[in-house]
Parts: sequence; C-alpha cells; structure tokens
Amino acid sequence: MKRRWLFWGSIIMVLAFVTLASAKWLISWHTGQSWHTPLAGRVIVLDAGHGGPDGGAVGGSIEEKDITLKITKDIRNYLQEMGAIVIMTRDRDTDLADDDFSGSHKTQDLVRRAKMVNKTHPDAFVSIHMNAIPMPSLHGAQTFYHPKSSENRKLALFIQDSLKQNLENTKRYAKPIGHVYLLKKAEAPSALVEVGFLSNAAERALLIQPNYQKKAASSISQGIMRYFTNEKIPSDQ
Ligand SMILES: [Zn+2]
Repeated sequence: MKRRWLFWGSIIMVLAFVTLASAKWLISWHTGQSWHTPLAGRVIVLDAGHGGPDGGAVGGSIEEKDITLKITKDIRNYLQEMGAIVIMTRDRDTDLADDDFSGSHKTQDLVRRAKMVNKTHPDAFVSIHMNAIPMPSLHGAQTFYHPKSSENRKLALFIQDSLKQNLENTKRYAKPIGHVYLLKKAEAPSALVEVGFLSNAAERALLIQPNYQKKAASSISQGIMRYFTNEKIPSDQ
C-alpha cells in the first residue's frame, strides 16, 4: 500500500512540475521575456521621414527621404527578428498627403502620420531623419524626444546610448525638443533620431553605404529593445 502511494505521489509530482514549467514558458513567451524574441507582443511604429515630393534635407546629390527609408526598413527587419509587430508610416517613396490637396501638403502629411501612430496605440514610436546644416564640420547621430513624458526621455536615452556605443561617432546626448509636430502629437513613448549629417561629406559617404545603414539600424533597434528591459537607464550627462 505504501509503495503504491509512493508511485502515485511521484507521478503527481512529475506532472505538477511539467505543468508549472510549461506555464512559466507560456507566460514568458506571452510577455516577450523569452531570450530569442525579446520584443514578442510589442507593437512598434516606425516613421521614415519625408518621402514623395518632400525630399527633406539634401547633401550633394543625396536626398534625406531615400536614406531614411533604407535605414527604417533595416530597423523593421531587426525588430521583427526580435519578435515585434512593426508598422511603418511609409514603406516606399511617397508621403501621406493627397496629390490634389489644395492646402499645405506637408501639414496634411504630418497630421496623417500622427493619426496613424495614435490609432495603432503602439508600445513605442520612432521617427528616422538625417540632418543638414550650413556648418559642414558637424557630424554624428543624435536622438531627440518631447519632454512631456519621462518614457520619451527613457526611450531616447537608450537609443542614443546604443548609437554612441556602436557607431562611435558622437559624444552627443539625447536632447529634449518641444516643437516637432509628430513628437508633440504622439501619445506613445516616442523618439526622433537624426542618424547623421548629410551636410558633412565624410558622414554622407558613410550614410549611403548599406553596411553603415545596417549598423545604424541595428544600434537603433538595440536601443528600442533595451528600453523594454529592466536595464538601468543610461545617464544623459
Ligand atoms: Zn528630416
């Protein structure tokens, strides 16, 4: 009799262990904590700046809209590999305004991008741009955020820290900015990355290289991924 109890007792113990282990696995899978898909269940909206008739900044014969699209597509691929659901405001050379719109094309485009972001209720939103200014010596990546929420700052700090570590081309810090329409309107944790300066010849030569585009994209994706971990927030000083 005693032996039988021992037998059934062991069976119950094993079953309980298996059930607990699989439940734990299911929970970790569902919450995206699994090591191979750290972004499982996360929805991220990516915005490739400009597009269509709006070329954005220009450096040499390079238009910002083309580089933003390439890098944003690379970021999409990296985030998808990490398990995220990625939505892009555009995935080809176009903007979101109507061709025959009589008002401001740019305003209609931006209003629609913001609506798209907020309608999706993403876990994070990141907009990709390139800089160009009349000072050709300036170079380096920089991340901006709207100061209305500490989550914006946290996301920007992680992205900037990953860019700094991987590209090793900047000492810049993530910076608050109040007047960027998309960042102002976005309800999700948001950041805008100026990946580099098209006005700097050396950086422009890098920005058009697919390998450098992938390196920048991988850094930005890593920053987004780190935002969702319990890692200590990098310093902004
Ligand atoms: Zn831009």
